Amino acid sequence: MKARVKRLAAFFAVLALMFAAAPPLQSSAQTEITILKNHAVVDYPHVVTFSLELESLEKITDIRLSYQVERDSFADVVCEAVADYSSKTGSAQWIWDMYTTGNLPPGTAIKYWWQVTTQNGGTILTETRMVTFADERYQWQSISEGNLSLFWYRGDGSFASELLGSAKAALTQLETDTGAHLTRPVDIFIYGSSADLQGAMLYVQEWAGGLAFTGYGVVAIGIAPSDVEWGKRAMVHELAHLVTHQMTNNPYNSIPVWLNEGISMYAEGNLEEYSESYLRRAVLYDELISVQSLASPFSADAEKTYLSYAQSYSLVDYLVSAHGSLRMADLLQVFSQGADYDEAFLEVYGFNIDGLDDAWQAWAKEKYGVYSPQTMGFIPLYLGFLVSGLIVIAAVFVIQKKRQMV
Ligand SMILES: [Zn+2]
Repeated sequence: MKARVKRLAAFFAVLALMFAAAPPLQSSAQTEITILKNHAVVDYPHVVTFSLELESLEKITDIRLSYQVERDSFADVVCEAVADYSSKTGSAQWIWDMYTTGNLPPGTAIKYWWQVTTQNGGTILTETRMVTFADERYQWQSISEGNLSLFWYRGDGSFASELLGSAKAALTQLETDTGAHLTRPVDIFIYGSSADLQGAMLYVQEWAGGLAFTGYGVVAIGIAPSDVEWGKRAMVHELAHLVTHQMTNNPYNSIPVWLNEGISMYAEGNLEEYSESYLRRAVLYDELISVQSLASPFSADAEKTYLSYAQSYSLVDYLVSAHGSLRMADLLQVFSQGADYDEAFLEVYGFNIDGLDDAWQAWAKEKYGVYSPQTMGFIPLYLGFLVSGLIVIAAVFVIQKKRQMV
């Protein structure tokens, strides 16, 4: 689009500079500048190239791009980058290399505008444009319901409906159990496989099957249509992270890691058997990790990580089943105001984190202990090992006796 920018007083130019963070209007210059082209091209997930072409009767001394990413933020953050400008071609360019920042999630909107300064100090601001960091390598289809929009490209409509249906059901159950619910829209991008998901993210651990971009309201996950049962749990887990974020986000304090992960594990449904086996073993060998330790990022050690997730689930299970969903809702509300951990638990439950540790460990030992009603099925197994052991000892004894006799 061609835009002619007319001369205005220097006063307005200064004013425009002072309010550069506000959505700009075309502004002044002491010379005539014609914008010939102003656009941005996305090469997902690598770069966004912002380009400006212009004509000017006066020498241009500086061109810079201002941009703002649409996301949850407590401050109105505007970034500024100095563009490469060629007076010969009259073109300016700035490339946002996502390798330097980590890539934005798919579908993120970026607002941008340019500021052009000429030799005599005149400045213009172009109109504000919007570009979407869309992953157009795939032919996305979409379905929406309420606050949820699901995008997918592999599998038929029933695959997408099944996923959206289970997301909705899990959110309803989570709200019943904890009071936590989405307050803002969420986009769920279902990549066709883990490999496709990995290919859509620049920096992601190989084992990551799903990602929650909490500040952006985006979940990205790789689910092959043949893997829908696994996919539903994984998607619900990530979605619950967005719910927790929306319920508790504040500029002062984050919530304990175990509470964040525990709500997501709890939203998935019953604890899977392999996770439960970690809890049983930890109870049996008295190796439960303290609640205090689980407040910080989990250990990198795989075994400890599994146990940390299982314990997180169990802590939320304990709080909901022993103290009710209304208190959990109150806890999230108190945390949304940036409360300190001890303070929050004292206010809602009447015990601090040490008290929680004691009460939960006693509850967990009861529930996951060897002789608890739930584990009676394990006893024949232990007895089996015991009997086999005794038979082996007896056999060795008999053989030795026989040898002594010879
Ligand atoms: Zn998680």
